Amino acid sequence: MSTAFRLPPVDVEAAARRVMARCDELARITAVTGTIERVYLSPEHARVNRLAAEWMREIGMTTRQDAAGNQIGRLGDPDAPALMLGSHLDTVPDAGRFDGIVGVLMALEVVRLLRASALPFAIEVVAFSDEEGTRFGKALLGSSAVAGSWNDEWWALTDADGTTLREAFLEFGLDPGRIGEAARRPDELVGYLEAHIEQGPELDRRGESLAVVSSIASARRFQLVVEGEARHAGGTPYDMRHDALLGASEAALAVERICRAEHHIIGTVGQLEAYPGAVNIVPGEARLSLDLRGEFDGSRDRVWDAISGEISDIMGRRGLRWHAREVHSAPAVFCAPLLQDVVREGILSTLEPGADAPPTIFSRAGHDGMAIGALTDVGMLFLRNPDGISHHPDEAVSARDVSLGIRALAEAVLHRAAEPL
Ligand SMILES: [Zn+2]
Repeated sequence: MSTAFRLPPVDVEAAARRVMARCDELARITAVTGTIERVYLSPEHARVNRLAAEWMREIGMTTRQDAAGNQIGRLGDPDAPALMLGSHLDTVPDAGRFDGIVGVLMALEVVRLLRASALPFAIEVVAFSDEEGTRFGKALLGSSAVAGSWNDEWWALTDADGTTLREAFLEFGLDPGRIGEAARRPDELVGYLEAHIEQGPELDRRGESLAVVSSIASARRFQLVVEGEARHAGGTPYDMRHDALLGASEAALAVERICRAEHHIIGTVGQLEAYPGAVNIVPGEARLSLDLRGEFDGSRDRVWDAISGEISDIMGRRGLRWHAREVHSAPAVFCAPLLQDVVREGILSTLEPGADAPPTIFSRAGHDGMAIGALTDVGMLFLRNPDGISHHPDEAVSARDVSLGIRALAEAVLHRAAEPL
């Protein structure tokens, strides 16, 4: 593969400075002063969409907000298929300023750098409206609408104030009856490319700026209930106790032990509650969550089988009962080989001649590409995330890595343009 031209370095550095300044500007649009919080269909969502639309028009794109509140800019022949670039502008509570945001802003800079180039496809930049699922507890709402996989059961989801998703659509000025119009057809698209911070320490540990993403982790989530017997904390001897909290605690430790022994499977118990929850009562019931992620669905499922077997043993020993309800399941999404190749070529263009191939890693975090993978080819570029901290105000990325990332992403687009549509 060969590129048509080299990007002027001075322009790429200016682009990176603009991305960093705009991350700061977007960080000031928040529902909670002193922190960053922008959730789906909120006044802050409307504000960032207006700002993103301004930035899209400034580089010659036509803009629209789709039926799910995603902000879209387009450049090129209205009838041509489009290469979609983007990420999301919504956040978790008390968020950092780069997760998602930096990918949208880098995409705009790629359009600015390439807008004079003759490309065989149109370019679209999409700022997805709800990747995190903060408000309604369901992630990827924006990208699921684009992928045509919207589920009408979601209309009844409620936020913390009891507002349904349907009501929130109406309050935001969107018509729930038109949600289908957000869906794209595969023949309208060439593929989807997203730049994102790693949200983990692998690149930082390796001393590398950028990586090719091979796949996005498969995930399963469960709510586990352990049932024992609530009894008096003073009067009940140990040999008569069926303490649900202790059973749940042993289960959480078993999750860690089994997952640590399994390469590339990560298990987390993030919630643990005891009932009735009094200081003087042996817990009669405990509830815990389990989040399981892995590179491959098969190994993830084998680990779940091992965990279930171990939990049954623990509960049997303690005279407890338990059951699990699966609340989320998503298969691993593999980045398209061609888009992995063009991202790799893009990163190579930022390295010294003769440098080793850049790292290829799988994403342990979920991304919009998980939904978009059902619609079109997906490729992802990761940026080094110092210390791997994310979903936290200390989340960081360096201007230099952003500059390398913009160059790599622009070169990746040019490499894709050199291949058959
Ligand atoms: Zn993200």
